Amino acid sequence: MSNEKIPYKIYLEENEMPTQWYNVRGDMKKKPAPLLNPGTGKPCTAQELSAVFCDELVAQELNETDRFIDIPDEIQQFYKMYRPSPLVRAYCLEKKLGTPAKIYYKFEGNNTSGSHKLNSAIAQAYYAKKQGLKGVTTETGAGQWGTALSMACSYFDLDCKVYMVKVSYEQKPFRREVMRTYGASVTPSPSDTTEVGRKILAEFPDTNGSLGCAISEAVESAVSSEGYRYVLGSVLSQVLLHQSVIGMESKIALDKYGIKPDIIIGCAGGGSNLGGLISPFMGEKLRGEADYQIIAVEPASCPSFTRGVYAYDFCDTGKVCPLQKMYTLGSGFMPSPNHAGGLRYHGMSAVLSELYDQGLMEARAVEQTEVFKAATQFARTEGILPAPESSHAIKAAIDEALKCKETGEEKTILFGLTGTGYFDMYAYAAYNDGKMSDYIPTDDELKASFSTLPQID
Ligand SMILES: *Cc1c(COP(=O)(O)O)cnc(C)c1O
Repeated sequence: MSNEKIPYKIYLEENEMPTQWYNVRGDMKKKPAPLLNPGTGKPCTAQELSAVFCDELVAQELNETDRFIDIPDEIQQFYKMYRPSPLVRAYCLEKKLGTPAKIYYKFEGNNTSGSHKLNSAIAQAYYAKKQGLKGVTTETGAGQWGTALSMACSYFDLDCKVYMVKVSYEQKPFRREVMRTYGASVTPSPSDTTEVGRKILAEFPDTNGSLGCAISEAVESAVSSEGYRYVLGSVLSQVLLHQSVIGMESKIALDKYGIKPDIIIGCAGGGSNLGGLISPFMGEKLRGEADYQIIAVEPASCPSFTRGVYAYDFCDTGKVCPLQKMYTLGSGFMPSPNHAGGLRYHGMSAVLSELYDQGLMEARAVEQTEVFKAATQFARTEGILPAPESSHAIKAAIDEALKCKETGEEKTILFGLTGTGYFDMYAYAAYNDGKMSDYIPTDDELKASFSTLPQID
């Protein structure tokens, strides 16, 4: 099909929007390893998990067989407020690069939370409400997840307690105030409101905090408060499931024009946007119906896929969460304070880890100065000011498009543009002032972190 016929933005009509999430585990012959109870070393039962998570979400977490799960009506209604998200043909960027490649991006930043996280927040809040809970607790790093959850909780009239990584709490006061505007309470982590927070503060009084530590506090707060459960914005298989709406919409939109991507790219923190974007495409790949090159892009400062080990590890610093088999840098790994807060998690989705281990996708790590160069180039050509996290995917997409320029190949590239960067202007300032550094952990640092992995075979 000729270029002329493909619009700048491919939208879906309301009646074309997905009504089901796609569960890629249903098509995986070898499933991700089960979550283990850190006390017994045995697979977690639904009953154990339901002390921490909402019942329906536990069922989704453990569901490895159903390929499709209906999106409840109330969630579909909420999705309609800000979805479908646009699938954009990056004509201007292609022209600027002089590449024969065709570049598409799925833009998830068109809602107040500014990222894809709202897709799962609304689902998790819905199931908490349905269970009759009073509220939920969670952690947030850069703040996007906390913002998304506070929006979802206010919609369903649920209480929302957010533990925010201390460095972000201080550096991103506006994010914090958005959450409070939606009615959430926000506590800097580590805090003295939990046992695990007090312990970490005693040991490391000057700590900037970390996601793993904030998770421990949020979990402790949930299990010790009547009528509360803990919710998590990434990593878990249920979150990937909810985020499959990104991939489903993309696929429906591309299919309308007979477009088949050759390369699919996404940034990977805990893996939820990438997992969601690739799910239906990976399904085709698993069933042998089509092939795609799939690339996860992570920061060189927190390289879980490219330099981590595939092992059981704790999901949190406090070691209260179930153990998950994943590509990990070790739960004690403290990434340097780079500017892509949403990509600073030590581990990775179990589903993506297993797919990566099976060789069904690849990964690359990029340095942040290069990432901001790509972000700036993108902002100046496509107009959108991208989040630092999203810009990792932009960087890889540009690299692939430039390869096509060399070889003359007209590949079709699809990447996930997960959000906007309006709350990341300190990072842009550092880049604009030429003061950005690229910290890459040494092998010795990683080795020290790996030595803290739990011994499980
Ligand atoms: C949280 C976040 C990410 C990373 O999380 P994943 O679970 O890996 O998708 C990426 N981009 C933005 C804008 C985010 O808010």
